[in-house]
Amino acid sequence: MTTPNIPNLTSVGRSERLLRSHDETIAERFTAVAREKWDVHLGHEVARARSGGDGEVVLDLANGTVLRGDLLLVATGRVPNGDRLDLDRTGVPTHPDGRIVVDDQQRTPVDGIFALGDASSPHQLKHVANHESKVVAHNLLHPDAPRRTDHRFVPSAVFSDPQMAAVGLTDPDAWISGYDLVRQLLIGATRGVLVALAIHALLWHVTAIRARSRRSRPIPGRRAG
Ligand SMILES: Cc1cc2nc3c(=O)[nH]c(=O)nc-3n(C[C@H](O)[C@H](O)[C@H](O)COP(=O)(O)OP(=O)(O)OC[C@H]3O[C@@H](n4cnc5c(N)ncnc54)[C@H](O)[C@@H]3O)c2cc1C
Repeated sequence: MTTPNIPNLTSVGRSERLLRSHDETIAERFTAVAREKWDVHLGHEVARARSGGDGEVVLDLANGTVLRGDLLLVATGRVPNGDRLDLDRTGVPTHPDGRIVVDDQQRTPVDGIFALGDASSPHQLKHVANHESKVVAHNLLHPDAPRRTDHRFVPSAVFSDPQMAAVGLTDPDAWISGYDLVRQLLIGATRGVLVALAIHALLWHVTAIRARSRRSRPIPGRRAG
């Protein structure tokens, strides 16, 4: 069962499909389902956002489409906010992109200061932050037996409807990396779909959309944080 359509939600994107960095099959399927659930405008630039009076927000798209709403969420990417933490007073360094420098135990170079999640991680995903928080908690309590963060296999989940989870290389990534991709499985119902890429006997990539309306959970059997 899927959740009902969301008639009052409008989504605008510059790309031609949603989740474009994910597996192409999954992204296309996700975009198709999204179009059924809410008002999706893809391949469009927003030319202007303005007030329409009475608290109304008006978006003018470059193609002349005018969209109206009560609230506007601008989701153009995430940046760490370490620049607002007065880090220069602590001596904690940052990378050129603003991320706090940590080692694989989540320690900054300054003794006693740790960092985790979006503030320091290149992944900026919820399950990564959860995993790193557990490592920090352990290392604070057990400094003599520290743990390291493990980012070899980073699962990602998209908190949407349909919800989606992925782990491993995508099809194009595998080809670019020179791996001889020998198998691609597509197990699809009307909505739910699982894509698995395999190289020889090794399961390489799994992406899945759940059609059911339940909270996002990591892929069963995977460490997710
Ligand atoms: C719109 C949006 C959609 C997202 N969708 C997904 C998704 O589908 N899947 C996914 O995996 N991830 C998603 N993310 C990313 C996910 O939310 C983050 O990766 C995750 O929350 C990072 O956890 P965190 O603990 O590092 O930071 P946060 O969850 O941001 O927590 C940081 C906390 O620190 C507080 N704080 C900040 N500065 C200070 C300060 N100076 N003093 C005290 N407190 C402070 C903040 O108020 C906040 O409570 C999304 C993010 C956004 C913004």
